[in-house]
Amino acid sequence: MKDRVPGRPTCLDCGIVVDGATMLDDDTAEPHDGDVSVCAYCSAVALYLDDGEGGLLLRRPTSAEWHDLHDLPAVQRAIEAVTARRRAWG
Ligand SMILES: [Zn+2]
Repeated sequence: MKDRVPGRPTCLDCGIVVDGATMLDDDTAEPHDGDVSVCAYCSAVALYLDDGEGGLLLRRPTSAEWHDLHDLPAVQRAIEAVTARRRAWG
């Protein structure tokens, strides 16, 4: 993506402001309300939420959403990519 994510989407697990995003299959795509986020620092899974002011927040998926998301191949690939990068960083 070219620009930072608008607003202050903050990881609910590690507390880092996640103001950059990359989609695995399209690095020009930008996140929107309802899209899935995998934190680049701790691999927490969250959903983007419109903050009502032109920006985005992160929220935890409901248990039903988590059930649907958990086994999605794209979510698993994102978690694996973050885990591999964290290992590479040491
Ligand atoms: Zn995190």
